[in-house]
Amino acid sequence: MSRDASRRRGRIVTTLQPFFDSEIAVRGAGYFRRGAVELIEGTDRGVSARVNGSAAYNTGLWCEGSSYKQAVYLWCDCPFVFRYNQPCKHLWAVIQLRRVLKTKN
Ligand SMILES: [Zn+2]
Repeated sequence: MSRDASRRRGRIVTTLQPFFDSEIAVRGAGYFRRGAVELIEGTDRGVSARVNGSAAYNTGLWCEGSSYKQAVYLWCDCPFVFRYNQPCKHLWAVIQLRRVLKTKN
């Protein structure tokens, strides 16, 4: 993994945090700690994973753009996102996975 990619990941976590309700983030972190996140694919640009809770959901994020102008796409097929169109606990759990991937590489 390149140094730029690592820097980008750190910034993504910082950038996304305000979009997550604190209660959602706490629950997502719990999912991550319990090992509920199953990595499907991870690259410099994104991660897709399955998060196993009361049901299994396909979740992930994808980054596009340059270092100064970037779009981050988030997706999850859980009912929470469908209903509220807000980032869910599964997404927060996957972002934790990205943190781990960052420190491993
Ligand atoms: Zn979700």
